[in-house]
Amino acid sequence: MPYGAGARPDGAISFCREKPYDVGRRRALQDETIRNSKRLRKLYVKSFGCQMNVYDSHRMTDLLAREDYAETTAPADADLIILNTCHIREKAVEKVYSELGRIRKLKHEAKRAGRNPVVAVAGCVAQAEGEEIVRRAPVVDMVIGPQNYHRLPALLAQVESGAKVVDTEFPLQDKFARLAPATVTAIRARGVTAFVTVQEGCDKFCTFCVVPYTRGTEVSRPVATIVAEVENLVRAGVREITLIGQNVNAYHGEGANGRPATLSHLLNRIAKVPSVLRLRYTTSHPRDMDENLIAAHRDLAILMPQLHLPVQSGSDRVLAAMNRRHTRAEYLDLIARLRATRPDMALTSDFIVGFPDETEEDFRDTLNIVDEVGFAGAFSFKYSPRPGTPAADRRDQIADEVKTERLARLQDRIERHQRAFNRNCIGRSLEVLLEKPGRNPGQLVGRSPYLQPVQVMAPSSLIGEIATAQITDVGSNSLFGALHSMEARAPALAGTGG
Ligand code: SAM
Ligand code: SF4
Repeated sequence: MPYGAGARPDGAISFCREKPYDVGRRRALQDETIRNSKRLRKLYVKSFGCQMNVYDSHRMTDLLAREDYAETTAPADADLIILNTCHIREKAVEKVYSELGRIRKLKHEAKRAGRNPVVAVAGCVAQAEGEEIVRRAPVVDMVIGPQNYHRLPALLAQVESGAKVVDTEFPLQDKFARLAPATVTAIRARGVTAFVTVQEGCDKFCTFCVVPYTRGTEVSRPVATIVAEVENLVRAGVREITLIGQNVNAYHGEGANGRPATLSHLLNRIAKVPSVLRLRYTTSHPRDMDENLIAAHRDLAILMPQLHLPVQSGSDRVLAAMNRRHTRAEYLDLIARLRATRPDMALTSDFIVGFPDETEEDFRDTLNIVDEVGFAGAFSFKYSPRPGTPAADRRDQIADEVKTERLARLQDRIERHQRAFNRNCIGRSLEVLLEKPGRNPGQLVGRSPYLQPVQVMAPSSLIGEIATAQITDVGSNSLFGALHSMEARAPALAGTGG
């Protein structure tokens, strides 16, 4: 066969004058010349709020890498500053405006030095407040909602031609299909664990929550595109995948047969991707925990025995007013079924205290559900009235001092259970996925199956591997352990491949 002749997948023969090697080299040189002719611009992205925003920030960075933006950790050096914002509580929104105050000063200094960095507000504050952001913070050049990130390059071009841009529509296009896959370099810089958004938005309309308004209706990605993204991550060295969604277990993306697939189906499919060592998913709604998903915790060796299952309140009266669509007894029954399937399951939750008309008795029901379940940890928040949500209009709001006092009591109760859960690990051998250097020289930090950080003395060559550690002590947030010998680790590693 002559040089340059190759069989195409359709069976035809194609010819070119250069050796394939030369063509590749020429293209690489062309790319390099183009890169050198353009100045590499600097991008600073700051994420607020949940993991979904962290994921979105990565995807924006990946997209902008194609436009010759390189990430920087110094906002003062940046040509483009993106704040990827959270609207879930009032405090989260105020943080964004105070950050914009700091950025205004940076932009002023940059202008004196002859530069004009672009400032963009993305995420849920962008979606909820739109043009109001530009009015309140004129330093902002672009406001872009979470469904519109694939339009970033086009919007940047508009800003560069002098316009202020606000884009918060919910387009029908699949934004994921239009975003760029992460490069090997970017994936490696982010570590051996990765989030993958599989579902966005929410149809539940809890009366306190802005998510259905800022993220829109529930949308799930097709199984095939998620699997392709996981394969790309794994090829670059990722070993643990956490599937994320505002309501991840409501997942209903298109499966191989063209019909909607469930989250348990998706987990089973991803478990077949070689070299995925661990799987997790978050955040789940109690109403969407079906029997197949519970069974997956028994049947899939690589699905970790850990579940974040927010209950919000222990009082039926408050749960009904929140429109949570389940009772306290139904939640406890679900926990019992999960534990019957996987007895060592670590359960965590979210709680809201001081929801309108919450009485001391309601609050005590919340305290005692913490005892009854024995959560391994939980996030807890004072109720924050969000404009546009039904609960915000209620007249029976709880005084802030009462919320503060209840929050302190709840957090004390949660911490007691968390410490007990962690102390119970002392003396046990736990498999730890080693992720990155720890606090002290020679130390690595990884995660136990229950998602606890574990500090061990280990060489950096073990990053990305699962090692078995004997837990020797607990700190305020992490466990301390000693690695078993390499010989002892081998069978454990084989067992986790699933
Ligand atoms: N979809 C998840 C669920 O159903 O539990 C929760 C997602 S939400 C983004 C994360 C957490 O923020 C909620 O579980 C809730 O505890 C808290 N949260 C949401 N709205 C809140 C509000 N208005 N005030 C205080 N906390 C709130
Ligand atoms: Fe918000 Fe979760 Fe309720 Fe949806 S289910 S409205 S995301 S708290």
